[in-house]
Amino acid sequence: MAAHRWVYLFRDGNAQQRDLLGGKGANLAEMTNVGLPVPPGFTVTTEACNAYFEDGASLPEGLWEQVLDGLADIERQMGRTFGSPDRPLLVSVRSGAKFSMPGMMDTILNLGLNDVTVRGLAAEADERFAYDCYRRLIQMFAKVVLDVNADLFEDVIDEHKRALGVRNDFELPAHDLRRMVAEFQEIVRRETGQDFPDDPHDQLRAAIIAVFESWNNRRAIDYRNANNIPHNLGTAVNVQAMVYGNMGPDCATGVAFTRNPSTGEKRLFGEYLTNAQGEDVVAGVRTPQPIEQMADDPHVGPAYQQLQEIAQRLEQHYRDMQDLEFTIQNGKLYMLQTRTGKRTGAAAVKIAVDMVKEGLISKEEAVQRVLPSQLDQLLHPTIDPGHTGEVLANGLPASPGAATGQVVFDADEAKALAEDGHDVILVRLETSPEDFHGMLAARAVLTARGGMTSHAAVVARGMGKPAVVGCTALQVDYDRQQITINGTVIPKGDYITLDGSTGAVMLGKVPTIEPQVHGDLATLLGWADEIRKLGVRANADTPEDAAKARELGAQGIGLCRTEHMFFQGDRIWAVREMIIATTEEERRAALAKLEPMQREDFAGIFRAMDGFPVTIRTLDPPLHEFLPHTDAEIEELARTMSIDPEIVKSKVVALREANPMLGHRGCRLGITAPEITEMQARAIFGAALDVAAEGVDVRPEIMIPLVGDVEELRLQREVVDRVAREMFAEAGRSIPYLVGTMIELPRAALLADKIAEQAEFFSFGTNDLTQTTLGLSRDDSGRFLPYYVEHGIFKHDPFQVLDREGVGELIRIAVERGRKTRPDIKLGICGEHGGDPSSVEFCHQAGLDYVSASPFRVPIARLAAAQAAL
Ligand code: ADP
Ligand code: MG
Ligand code: MG
Repeated sequence: MAAHRWVYLFRDGNAQQRDLLGGKGANLAEMTNVGLPVPPGFTVTTEACNAYFEDGASLPEGLWEQVLDGLADIERQMGRTFGSPDRPLLVSVRSGAKFSMPGMMDTILNLGLNDVTVRGLAAEADERFAYDCYRRLIQMFAKVVLDVNADLFEDVIDEHKRALGVRNDFELPAHDLRRMVAEFQEIVRRETGQDFPDDPHDQLRAAIIAVFESWNNRRAIDYRNANNIPHNLGTAVNVQAMVYGNMGPDCATGVAFTRNPSTGEKRLFGEYLTNAQGEDVVAGVRTPQPIEQMADDPHVGPAYQQLQEIAQRLEQHYRDMQDLEFTIQNGKLYMLQTRTGKRTGAAAVKIAVDMVKEGLISKEEAVQRVLPSQLDQLLHPTIDPGHTGEVLANGLPASPGAATGQVVFDADEAKALAEDGHDVILVRLETSPEDFHGMLAARAVLTARGGMTSHAAVVARGMGKPAVVGCTALQVDYDRQQITINGTVIPKGDYITLDGSTGAVMLGKVPTIEPQVHGDLATLLGWADEIRKLGVRANADTPEDAAKARELGAQGIGLCRTEHMFFQGDRIWAVREMIIATTEEERRAALAKLEPMQREDFAGIFRAMDGFPVTIRTLDPPLHEFLPHTDAEIEELARTMSIDPEIVKSKVVALREANPMLGHRGCRLGITAPEITEMQARAIFGAALDVAAEGVDVRPEIMIPLVGDVEELRLQREVVDRVAREMFAEAGRSIPYLVGTMIELPRAALLADKIAEQAEFFSFGTNDLTQTTLGLSRDDSGRFLPYYVEHGIFKHDPFQVLDREGVGELIRIAVERGRKTRPDIKLGICGEHGGDPSSVEFCHQAGLDYVSASPFRVPIARLAAAQAAL
């Protein structure tokens, strides 16, 4: 039986074999086979690495013989011999897993040198070069294979440089390098009790084993955990003939991207160093030159021309931007690596669109090339990458974007200062609906408590404002009007900077970069719109948000939360009157004040959404959220209503609930006080009639929240339909409208067939549906959910990524049962999940008609919906 194949020559592999050969090996093979100048070599497979670990850390049978065969092939191609005193062959041993793990595993250069072969190498070129290679080998080998502290070697190098009064490694003469080699050998002897192995085959075997072992070093494991890379893939090992960038002034080493990875500009971008080897470019010992300067260097100018041609060819071949590593030896170019280049959001969009225009990729591929998270970067200001700000602490990255402002603790004060032209950041222990106007006025929000779906997080995302929440290191002292973060005291009025994309809280003003909505972005999203099947709507509460949402491509509003209007300006007083009212008469009087204001808002939203549906939810939150809490506020309310403050106070106490989320809220409010729903219906239909008369195409959809039984919906629907009938009769015209419900209780999902008798549409309110299905409080889960996610008990925060198994199953049931009763029932989702790419994919698969997301997440939802359809 033939032995298992553990080794592939570069010329026998190809780019499709990433699983077996690793990314680096597969691409070295591919480059070899398209005829690019790649030093010859072979790849030891990932299977060999896995077999090595399975066999209790020993090389699998047949491997070493195959390595020797591979080595013989390199020798033939190079006309050199491994271990020979005359024209010695040197090789590199390079790690390379399926997914690139930059810098996580180990590579060793110049294997094959010893006290004898080094003289052979010196005879070919010069002594300085040969001993430079040798000292590098001992250094790398000692560090990677023998686990000797790398600083010991650096110290020796520094001593030599100091003694000679030179600054750079390459200024060290042969004499010193030779002495350094002896000193390095001595360090190895002292630190390990063994001599540096002078048999090149021993070196090679030990290096291959060390690369296998590096798959399981701490750094590599952490990297895989952070990037969701499985731990059982193993790494391949590439053994490749050395070429030398450190042989003289006509030698160089460098890295390049075929296009600019931060802007996407179509031009070779990178850095190089002459007379250097391997890691020197990234190690920062010398400052590398921008790659275009190669053109002006007579020694490497011709190789630069060739590099540009090869870069083009590789792009054509791989049909994507490439990240290259190369070396020039005596003016001749060698390619050492190519892989798909990492890029920023801006570059991803530009490159994808440009490549379609160049005929390199299809529109569908372009749409698939841009990650939704990359779009997210584009739609918010970001911290200037060159910043020098100090990070004081990290909280949860609740709403992306960066902002700088003065610390303010109170919503009213935030508003006042903002109106005076200050940039402020609202800092609270946590926020409540009462802080809404302060959040609106602030540049960003910071809270000490709360999770990713706390009030602050949800509202900030909705506003497209940066927010960092649940920053446990933050102590908020309202009395002293200051915050303390890890010992740093920041009084009110001082500047801080937040990065809502990373959760960082920084001291002072850190420069930020404004987002640019590129022409290319519009093009790409246009292609996404052609592909996607799901509609995309926005969650918007004000005419301004609605206009923004349209601008970002929303095809309607999936959720307009009427209560947010209640907090604007003086309206809160009328709202409070409504709540305090003891008789229906009193309540109607207060509602009469609110009606024209709501009517005006709805009119603005309808105008902004001309021709598109607008889903308006009737009042949802527990009433106590609107009530005054401090004595001063209570007194003020009592004064305006001319009643006894004690009455107000007792009302506040009476409305307090043990568990408001499951209390008197949602449709339960409109059922016990139908006049509230009636007022809202009047405002909606009044506004609809008004703007329809202006020629606007109005499509209201009235949505009743928190329904658990069809009877609840029937009762609310009766109110809405009656108001419509009356108002249409009065106006002598009518407006087409729909009445539907949110599905946000498990019971509603299970009884969807019954509920559909009364509902023309369902909108899955997945924030509450997640909360009620998992029995997990949105506002309290911040205390333990991060632990769950960190320890892998939950794969994701279910408030961010829809729980497909549980909540998703209820959605599937509701879709099926709802359609059974009413085949043309409209189905959408309006929870925070509407803007999460993986949840959008689920909605596509579940056959929903649309998703609704915060305005700033509308472009992400458009892209994600297209990707789900491909
Ligand atoms: P990493 O995965 O950390 O980038 P590599 O295996 O790509 O490690 O090696 C790092 C660098 O070492 C390469 O970019 C190249 O400059 C140098 N190098 C590796 N193999 C060779 C070789 N055969 N000849 C010359 N330089 C090499
Ligand atoms: Mg590399
Ligand atoms: Mg809800």
